[in-house]
Amino acid sequence: MIPVGPPPLHAANLRVSDLISTSDHTWNWSTIKQYLPMYEPHIRRLELGFTRHVDSLVWLRNNNGIYTTGSGYGLKNSVSASPQFHNFNWQIKLWRIRAQPKLKTFLLKAAVGALAINDQLATLGIGNTTGCIRCGCSETIEHVLFHCSWAKLVWDLAPLSPIDWNSIDTMLDFLMESSRAMVLPPIGITNASMPA
Ligand SMILES: [Zn+2]
Repeated sequence: MIPVGPPPLHAANLRVSDLISTSDHTWNWSTIKQYLPMYEPHIRRLELGFTRHVDSLVWLRNNNGIYTTGSGYGLKNSVSASPQFHNFNWQIKLWRIRAQPKLKTFLLKAAVGALAINDQLATLGIGNTTGCIRCGCSETIEHVLFHCSWAKLVWDLAPLSPIDWNSIDTMLDFLMESSRAMVLPPIGITNASMPA
């Protein structure tokens, strides 16, 4: 795909139906070559259906075609994630964790950057500091949950198999590492903390 600028005034209200011949219901190639020449190879791969629905905006990330903030964040995270995450569907795995719903909701909020910590609040113009109240470092979600010395003390007490904290820079890193971390006795649960 090639980024394109704003459409010219005479094409501002162009719709998909304008690219389809009304007489025989086939692609109108002269119009496509005129307005969207860069997409012609893509359009040539699209078979036109016979049911003639009216044009509508469809968000492909949801089955019902309706945009949601969660799916938008999911797309953002999947695009920015490194290749190792492409087969790791954290949105599905997160809801399969055997834990209270409020904990899953908390993890989801952390994953999509929706926790009210100073770094996030500052971007909204709320508060007058981005620093961690315990150590003074920049209070990001990753800092509060993993990198702050206080957070490390808590993790050291948790009955988990060793976690390589040096490899964890983002919540996605953490969720992926969680699928490998084992919950150890005395809790008595020996499966992974997140479904593999
Ligand atoms: Zn701190």
